[in-house]
Amino acid sequence: MPNDSITSHSNGTADTLANGHTNGHTNGHTNGNTNGHSNGSSNGTSQVAIDLATRLSVNRSSKAFSSYAVSLVSLPRGTVFAPITGTTAGTKAYTSVQVGRDSHIELNSELVFCNHSCSPSLEFDMARMEVRVARDRDLVEGEALTFWYPSTEWEMAQPFECGCGTERCKGWISGTGQMDEKVARDYWLNDHIEELLKEKIAGQTTVN
Ligand SMILES: [Zn+2]
Repeated sequence: MPNDSITSHSNGTADTLANGHTNGHTNGHTNGNTNGHSNGSSNGTSQVAIDLATRLSVNRSSKAFSSYAVSLVSLPRGTVFAPITGTTAGTKAYTSVQVGRDSHIELNSELVFCNHSCSPSLEFDMARMEVRVARDRDLVEGEALTFWYPSTEWEMAQPFECGCGTERCKGWISGTGQMDEKVARDYWLNDHIEELLKEKIAGQTTVN
């Protein structure tokens, strides 16, 4: 995990995080844990070993890109769904997830079957290395497990026309860097995306 993402966390993004997340993150790091991101939770929830197999099952399809993950559990909004473990460094690709300004990982788990939705059921927090239930709605057993891909991606290896079919559908999905700012603001974003978005907006401001 690059230092810049740690720095971005200590730079006070508490306003974008649910209660206690900032504190928890600090704890994870001050404990001297070199792998602090996977353990830096607010109340230890993501330190609890959660077996992904008890939470997620994959509906596999022989058709390309049609497999998808569904939830085996019902959980209240904002709670930890699963820690993100077993990742390896990667390069920007269809399957990779961006974790910092210049860094990408491969998930190497069935979490890779969590597809994009414009009305997502999950949040992938790549600074804390945990997957949470979306903050605006509860997760229901049997529901498709999805997240808003631009919440991790600034540029996308393969932008696409979304077929989520939800009322909130935004149509063409790319990285946050190429999306309308108003659309981007409709969603919770990872810290590295927040940072890049603020820089982009600042760069657009003309000084007269
Ligand atoms: Zn959509």
